[in-house]
Amino acid sequence: MENKRNVLMERYDFGRLLGQGNFAKVYYGRNLITGQSVAIKVIDKEKVLKVGLMDQIKREISIMRLVKHPNVLQLYEVMATKNKIYFVIEYAKGGELFNKVAKGRLKEDVARMYFQQLIRAIDFCHSRGVSHRDLKPENLLLDENGGLKVSDFGLSATAESNRQDGFLHTTCGTPAYVAPEVIYRKGYDGAKADIWSCGVILFVLLAGYLPFHDANLILMYQKIRRAEYKFPNWFSPEMCRLLSRMLDPNPKTRISITKIMENSWFGKGFNCNAVTIKNEVTGLDPLAADVIFDSCENDSAPAEAKKEMSQPASLNAFDIISLSSGFDLSGLFAKDNQKKETKFISMHSASTITSKLEDVARFLKLKVKKKDGGLLKLEGSEKGRKGALSIDTEIFEFTPSFHLVEVKSSSGDTLEYQQILENGIRPALKDIVWAWQGE
Ligand code: AMP
Repeated sequence: MENKRNVLMERYDFGRLLGQGNFAKVYYGRNLITGQSVAIKVIDKEKVLKVGLMDQIKREISIMRLVKHPNVLQLYEVMATKNKIYFVIEYAKGGELFNKVAKGRLKEDVARMYFQQLIRAIDFCHSRGVSHRDLKPENLLLDENGGLKVSDFGLSATAESNRQDGFLHTTCGTPAYVAPEVIYRKGYDGAKADIWSCGVILFVLLAGYLPFHDANLILMYQKIRRAEYKFPNWFSPEMCRLLSRMLDPNPKTRISITKIMENSWFGKGFNCNAVTIKNEVTGLDPLAADVIFDSCENDSAPAEAKKEMSQPASLNAFDIISLSSGFDLSGLFAKDNQKKETKFISMHSASTITSKLEDVARFLKLKVKKKDGGLLKLEGSEKGRKGALSIDTEIFEFTPSFHLVEVKSSSGDTLEYQQILENGIRPALKDIVWAWQGE
């Protein structure tokens, strides 16, 4: 039990606060018998129970037992008191890797060295059927020798869990590392999503800034979905080739870990025998998770919260809205000075939006052409002052019931487009539009 001398279970000295997550505070600790430094993650049981995460945490502890690798922070043991759960974890003395990048981009060799360690860790975990799903700067720590340590493998749920209360807190980090298929809730392969995130991390290490960035969240998602990024001029062609294979928006054609490891840029200075991987079971008692949580069997989380839990990490409409400043939806839209383009948000399904757009086109005597990727072209048959009018509408899915629709004039007279938009399209779409840009 924690007492006034800050000793946990008569085994660990509690020290200074190292950092803070959503449900957890992480403290420095020292094993009183061996003197070994550890990190102690303290989780508030009540908060976890409230959001229905207890089963997930139990499962994740079992997963973490499968993963023992020099580049993955090791879970030494789990303890619990009536109100708290304690994870005793390997201590990463060097702190977060991204504190280094914050001081400026890394030299190519240094970035490669970290990247090799990251890929080694991910490869190992994937081979054990565990994907991280939440790779981001906060989860990459360093030991005292500069060795990379991936943290929260299998525990990403604790970071993600706050979606249950409807808010995506800032401590959850940025969605800038998340693969397009995760954002768009398409159902995804966790391993492929991890490769995308590793691509973003490598880019950041080498460039010193994010490949996909926009103050406007929706525009950032568009960039991610379209894999719209530019390589800085100091990136070598080899680096660009590897990164473009990792940042492939199609998970099916995205490069695999095996191919990354065969890549010539990756292979420089890489000694695959340099690390001996121990895979014995950690000191954790296999039944520890159940014993620790026995008192939690009466998990009273609402059924809805539990259902949500089993779904992969992704953002829901409410997350997106809460990310826009102070619930002001205008923050979701870009400032658009050209009057040739507008957007609206709809809470209807993509098929409802499409059929509504088709109805409106028929009513306005516009021809409809369906293109790939949810693009509809509405074309006027008569030639206007500047040729036939053509309007492109594109649907971006954030969740099955939360869409952003872009409406833009691709040819013809702008004034004619504005008139048809104001007097025809906007009023006809009123049943399915939740908010127009600027409203
Ligand atoms: P987390 O809740 O795991 O995201 O941890 C919050 C912060 O605590 C991290 O961003 C780190 O700065 C710090 N931290 C977490 N685990 C460790 C560790 N094992 N060693 C050192 N610092 C840690």
